[in-house]
Amino acid sequence: AMLPKNGYPPWYSAFESFYPRRLKKRLDDCFANPIHGVPGRYIRCFNRYSNDYNDTMYYDGTSKPCLNLSSYNYLGFAQSVGSCTDDSIEAVKKYGTSSCGPVNTIAHNDLTRSTEKVLADFIGKDDALVFSMGYGTNANLFTSLVNSKCLVISDSLNHGSIRFGIRLSNAAVKVFPHNDMDKLEKIVRDAISQGQAKTHRPWQKIMVCVEGLYSMEGNLCNLPKLVELREKYKFYLFVDEAHSIGALGETGRGVCDYFGVPPSKVDILMGTLTKSFGAAGGYVAADQAIIDRLRLDITTNIHGESQPPAVLQQISTSLRIISGELNGNEGRERLQRIAFNSRYLRLGLKRLGFIVYGADDSPVIPVMLYTPPKMPAFSRMMMERGIAVVVVGYPATDLITSRVRFCVSSALTKEDIDKILTDCDQIGDKLYLKFGSGIAGGE
Ligand code: PMP
Repeated sequence: AMLPKNGYPPWYSAFESFYPRRLKKRLDDCFANPIHGVPGRYIRCFNRYSNDYNDTMYYDGTSKPCLNLSSYNYLGFAQSVGSCTDDSIEAVKKYGTSSCGPVNTIAHNDLTRSTEKVLADFIGKDDALVFSMGYGTNANLFTSLVNSKCLVISDSLNHGSIRFGIRLSNAAVKVFPHNDMDKLEKIVRDAISQGQAKTHRPWQKIMVCVEGLYSMEGNLCNLPKLVELREKYKFYLFVDEAHSIGALGETGRGVCDYFGVPPSKVDILMGTLTKSFGAAGGYVAADQAIIDRLRLDITTNIHGESQPPAVLQQISTSLRIISGELNGNEGRERLQRIAFNSRYLRLGLKRLGFIVYGADDSPVIPVMLYTPPKMPAFSRMMMERGIAVVVVGYPATDLITSRVRFCVSSALTKEDIDKILTDCDQIGDKLYLKFGSGIAGGE
């Protein structure tokens, strides 16, 4: 078909006017809502139509905290109670609120070192580095791992921070369809055979990059197969465990723990400290030689601010609780509760007839809404019933696979989840979200 003179396809202007008129205003209802207080089992959202910042009223005219399925708080460490908070307060008293400099100048103290050690031991690697931002970790890491003579093979659904970091590194990039191990193997084989034709490997390094648990899909990488391919073709394997460390595996040690794969089979285990530990920032754990090199080379250690002491302490104390070194059974109970809650909510939603993506044990539970206008409707109806959720659509997903994402937490009780299921049941009927209930929306 001929394009109009302005070069846009015919539907473009219609969408452009529809979007600002209706959809954007409605989407604004459910994004970037300021919150009040600690994002724990409950969360208080401000009334965005009020000028009073103490006004937490929502659509039903009452002022109440909402059950929180919107924050990343897998193990419930975001709540400001208990030994984590006490230790962090002590850390502020001893070290202040900021390290006031990059790690490689003057800000590397005993707390930084001991936290890295606790983290490395927990993950099962020689050593680890911590950084003040998870996104920044990936954004900066790849320039120190690969260069223009290297090939990075990346899962199509990898997080934006990984894609950004790889691009910045100038490495050649090939993308394989999400979790498609046959396609991955073909790309690796082709890359190596090009080299054999020239009697050497054409790439200085080949690195395969995946995530442990995909945050929009709630599914896992195929770690056993990846490890098998790594042995066969000798590439480096990088796994981002942002959503799996702490939250998955019998001892909370992420996808290696879950699949029974020794951590030595993955070259670089990256993760964030934002989701399971009630902290912030990112880490890289690897063999000593890699960490020694990264410690000197990675740009954030030279040019960027290091982790604040209270955050380091939060990481260290929460890890020691999870591993059972502190507070007896508390860590084990948190792990058991996240595992139970994740399965209980997921199976309940499936039983009600919702279309639920992902693995049975995933603490991220995406429920399909499909059409974007159902996003604000779902979010608002949940809010009216005292439940906070995050709805996700384009650009985090395709436009027509909009979804709501429940982030489960150990902080929730079985009764909380029963309430959520009852409310979802009603909303699902109203919005025609259950399988077999038709595709028209609303009552
Ligand atoms: N990697 C993945 C897979 C993520 O999901 C995220 C954040 N959601 C990040 C990295 C960035 O981490 P942070 O939020 O700690 O900056």
